[in-house]
Amino acid sequence: MLPQEIIRAKRDGRSLSDDEIASFIAGLVDGSVGEGQAAAFAMAVFFRGMTRAETIALTGAMRDSGTVLDWTSFDLPGPPLDKHSTGGVGDKVSLMLAPMVAACGGAVPMISGRGLGHTGGTLDKMDSIPGYTTAPDLAMLRRAVHDAGCAIIGQTADLAPADRRLYAIRDVTATVESIPLITASILSKKLAAGLDGLVIDVTTGSGAFMSSPEDARALARSLVAVAGGAGCRTTALLTDMDEVLGTTAGNAVEVREAIAYLTGTAPRDPRLHEVTLALSAELLGTGGLRADVATARQACERALASGDAAERFARMVAALGGPPDLLDRPDAYLPEAPVRFPAFPARPGIVGTVDVRQVGLAIVGLGGGRTAPGQSVDHAVGLTDVAPVGGAVGPDRPLAVVHARDRASAERAAAELRAAVTIADEPPASRPVVLERIAPGD
Ligand code: URA
Repeated sequence: MLPQEIIRAKRDGRSLSDDEIASFIAGLVDGSVGEGQAAAFAMAVFFRGMTRAETIALTGAMRDSGTVLDWTSFDLPGPPLDKHSTGGVGDKVSLMLAPMVAACGGAVPMISGRGLGHTGGTLDKMDSIPGYTTAPDLAMLRRAVHDAGCAIIGQTADLAPADRRLYAIRDVTATVESIPLITASILSKKLAAGLDGLVIDVTTGSGAFMSSPEDARALARSLVAVAGGAGCRTTALLTDMDEVLGTTAGNAVEVREAIAYLTGTAPRDPRLHEVTLALSAELLGTGGLRADVATARQACERALASGDAAERFARMVAALGGPPDLLDRPDAYLPEAPVRFPAFPARPGIVGTVDVRQVGLAIVGLGGGRTAPGQSVDHAVGLTDVAPVGGAVGPDRPLAVVHARDRASAERAAAELRAAVTIADEPPASRPVVLERIAPGD
């Protein structure tokens, strides 16, 4: 089958057959489909869309373009379960969810990504732990999943290679924002990880990839239907990303917040707690480990209160090469930036709205994120003490404390933060953080 005929068919609005899709994806991997052809295909899909059946075929072909993991030889302590988030700022949920779900009987071999653009990446956060390896060999991975029930690790080169090539081309041809292409991209990687159950956190708001709730809902429905069609039980939650999640954003600063959350050594941010519990409970239900969400939430609360979840996190870190006493002495290991600079608001008042994308970009400006794949990241910089929407700010209460390499970059980030926040006189109406649940058939 000639790639140009497949592109022509999609350009003219025809539905592609499974064979046509498989042939195009095979060509992407063996190089017989050129870069221009891949770009034209992506643009044709962007404008013409794909039916559910086509999206399922595209996802399956991309999943099968590389290794599909099989955990049977690992003798896992429970069903393999995972969470995916479409991204945000301050989103450290994975660091708490993985050990909580493990403590409740799941096995969580969590394949995570790096940050790009304004959103942070779980792997960058884990990389701020000295010695922790995000690319373990099989023996090390096996030990981590056995000792802890969870392992937060990176993607190997042989997982869904078709997605790697197509995504790189979409990224530079304005074809990322297509629901069938996003669905196939996200799910090809997750389904190649051989999961029994998946929960997807589809964020919406100014810091989200899908800023409008309508787009986020459409993406969530597509992800749930296609994953289910491919045989992986999946549900999704729409969650709010119109403010930073939790009180920190960056890398090491987020690991500190996650550790305090797990060990209970500081008050838990209520929005972060709600999202973490809701996603963890959802995953326990999806994985068949608890009969309903209420029972699953209680199990998660117990895993936190008993210290079991914290213990799992500590064991995971140790098994993957990090310090065995990280949870007891986080400050002895996690990097700290030399400058701490309070970012005060332009005037006293109440935090009204936050342009979360701009907050994420301020962290990138500090060196805490990257503007191109492969760039290195400064793990120490970021924000702590982030004031919530509705919180009072003024000369005694900053918008956040900036952690920076030097005074000039701290002042720049503080100005960017001020520009990203509007100050109101009255508290805005309170908004729920979990907005909607999408289950198969919705
Ligand atoms: N994240 C992905 O992995 N793929 C997309 O297409 C968009 C976001």
